[in-house]
Amino acid sequence: MGGASRSDLSPRGGGAREGKHFPGKASRGAAAPGPSATGSGPAMSHLRAAAARGLRRSGGTAARPAGQSRKGASPRGGTSAPVPAPPPAQHLFSDPSEIDTLRGNLLAWYDKSKRDLPWRTLAATEPDADRRAYAVWVSEIMLQQTQVATVIDYYNRWMQKWPTLQALAQASLEEVNELWAGLGYYSRGKRLQEAARKVPWCWGVGAFLDPSAACGSVLAPVCLASLGLCAAATRVVTELGGQMPRTAEELQKLLPGVGRYTAGAIASISYGQATGVVDGNVIRVLCRLRCIGADSSSPAVIDRLWDMANALVDRSRPGDFNQALMELGATVCVPKAPLCGECPVRQHCRARRRVEKELAFASQKLFGKPAPVPDVEDCGFGDCPLCPPATEPWDSSLGVTNFPRKAAKKQPRVARTATCVLERRGCHGALEYLIVQRPSSGLLAGLWEFPSLALAQGLQEEQQREVLADHLQACTGRPVAAGDLRLIGEVIHVFSHIHQTYVVYSLPLDGDVTLDPALSPSRWVTEEEFHTSAVSTAMKKVLKACEKQHGKDSDHGKVGIAGGCTAPGAAPRCCGPWCAVLETHGLWGQAVDHPKPGTGLSLGGFALVCPQYQASKRKRGAKPQGASSTRPGTQLSLRAFLQAPTSL
Ligand code: SF4
Repeated sequence: MGGASRSDLSPRGGGAREGKHFPGKASRGAAAPGPSATGSGPAMSHLRAAAARGLRRSGGTAARPAGQSRKGASPRGGTSAPVPAPPPAQHLFSDPSEIDTLRGNLLAWYDKSKRDLPWRTLAATEPDADRRAYAVWVSEIMLQQTQVATVIDYYNRWMQKWPTLQALAQASLEEVNELWAGLGYYSRGKRLQEAARKVPWCWGVGAFLDPSAACGSVLAPVCLASLGLCAAATRVVTELGGQMPRTAEELQKLLPGVGRYTAGAIASISYGQATGVVDGNVIRVLCRLRCIGADSSSPAVIDRLWDMANALVDRSRPGDFNQALMELGATVCVPKAPLCGECPVRQHCRARRRVEKELAFASQKLFGKPAPVPDVEDCGFGDCPLCPPATEPWDSSLGVTNFPRKAAKKQPRVARTATCVLERRGCHGALEYLIVQRPSSGLLAGLWEFPSLALAQGLQEEQQREVLADHLQACTGRPVAAGDLRLIGEVIHVFSHIHQTYVVYSLPLDGDVTLDPALSPSRWVTEEEFHTSAVSTAMKKVLKACEKQHGKDSDHGKVGIAGGCTAPGAAPRCCGPWCAVLETHGLWGQAVDHPKPGTGLSLGGFALVCPQYQASKRKRGAKPQGASSTRPGTQLSLRAFLQAPTSL
């Protein structure tokens, strides 16, 4: 979640990590050479299929590099399996000395230019391998589809709250969702927590009471086993051998939500395993370095890029090399206007070379010189599976950004949802809202929202009201008339795959509303509580729209509080006593601005503070001020105001 715009802005290229271009283990299976000797079975990979197509088109005469054996060929000289055609040299890193130079240039640039990021500092300074791996893992999951700048604050708060895997394993999903609120793609947080529960795990004393909680959270502030006091210390169960898996392969195999990219990042950065990574930034850089213009989300191209990343990764500094490649994509080789002049690997960049050649061709043409004969290494003249398709030839106006290319994005599904902000005055007069919890699986799993209902396409406004009123009636157990629902407007939120329109209504309720406990969990929250709850960004937008509308409606120029009474002597609510006072002093109707509900109002040079507001400020540790002061400009509680009528 978080919207397509966030996904498009992803500093790592967005959309190239697990779950998008790498749809998990299925795609890996598809990419691996199939076990069938004939290659005709369902296990035949996309790559092999593409290569086979290439062989057929070229009459089966695709050249292989000298000395390369034909893997998969039948040893008995029987039917040969189709063998992937090696990509043309244009798309390869085949010169070891070039690879060495590229590594050296890239690492030197990274050492000088890398951004200071909290997860990098932790990974570089933390001596404990499990903590290092955990720190990298959290950062990598948060960075999926999300910008670095957004992630930093979330990451710091996360690591402060759950500095270790054990601490995270003890957290509830509600706590995880609360911290994750606003970061989008909520299933990421959930999967992190689920995976944490699989790693080192003490099913000690507390487990007898609550199998979902560890000792520390239930009974003991410290692990009793560490003090030699744990009755169940002999039963310390460590599902994964008491430590994080130590290789990319195991990380991917054993931890839920960890795909090939994340596994490679953790293993290379935390353990120094020489394994490559391919994310959106790496795809872009490699496609440009080697002029790969075929659909960069296709399994054939992705496989080729993984091979390339694994071949390029520096053997002595794999973690730094991988981060350098990603950093290059995030800061220099950016999607729209790459800074080729500052690029540390420009001498290896074939996209750049192609641009230079095209310019040279153009100028030769201008002076009437014959077009040069194409370089034998140049591609794009045949059926190369890594070149741009013939239908989308080189576009000279795009320069190096001809690479990479992606298949057209699928249009997001359009959906409409009616949502209602149910309001009431709480016992202290503060405005409260009803929120309900979403199911524990699916979109925005476990998050809280205003009562909402998916709308069928083509419903007229009256019909929308009717179905929403019925839904609210079921939620609250009291009759709700469709005509009482007030239309606030529409709020649009774009998820990665859904273009969602919320049709927002509001409905004030009087008195206590008892909710049916048999229905979804629900609760009343103040505005402050709403913002600290596990609610999505979309719901925050809904509340904002509602508050904006209320703000417009408030009667500026009249004394009173928005959402409260509108006439002297109205039923006592948050501002009821104030109205009585103002009426007593003949000030009702004096032109002053409406304050925000629950805050205060300015009158006669005094800022009057609602007692409810003061209480909440005190709770947050602010020093109540001005209760005994009558200096203009200070804040007075209602009590002080009542005791100092002369101040008016
Ligand atoms: Fe990217 Fe330009 Fe560097 Fe090539 S030279 S890798 S296109 S920034």
